[in-house]
Amino acid sequence: MDQLFAPWRMAYIDGADKQEGCIFCDFPKANEDRKRLILARGELVFVILNAFPYNPGHLMVAPFRHEGDYENLKDEECLEMHRFGQRCVAVLKEAMNPQGFNMGINIGKTAGAGFAGHVHLHIVPRWNGDTNFMPVIAGTKVLPASLQETWESLKKVWEAHDRRR
Ligand SMILES: [Zn+2]
Repeated sequence: MDQLFAPWRMAYIDGADKQEGCIFCDFPKANEDRKRLILARGELVFVILNAFPYNPGHLMVAPFRHEGDYENLKDEECLEMHRFGQRCVAVLKEAMNPQGFNMGINIGKTAGAGFAGHVHLHIVPRWNGDTNFMPVIAGTKVLPASLQETWESLKKVWEAHDRRR
């Protein structure tokens, strides 16, 4: 199914879409976290807002290291990836008040991985009345908030969490 036109996609179309290679390797190296929608950096992993979100606030956690096979992640990478997954849930709860979450890793293009060469964990906030998960994955969806606005609001909450730790 084709994506509908939506204004928040323009930044992606203008920039990231033309990019070849691996976004999970190239975006952190660019050192322009705001533009690239990188929300937070850990020691081994980072958090980025999905530019083709299934719902507003759709986040992804990926290791900095280019690794396509989930079973080959190192223990420390697994641990930090899931710790950051917990942080994402906490931050999204506070910032967007979702009623549920889907979390998961698509392994291989057949399973829906857009970037199958680099493992990443999806965190998708859910609200009553949004569509159920499979149609969300398969389909087209227009989202009300721009990606940049979502990034700004999540960034504020993430930094507030950092200060409380
Ligand atoms: Zn990569």
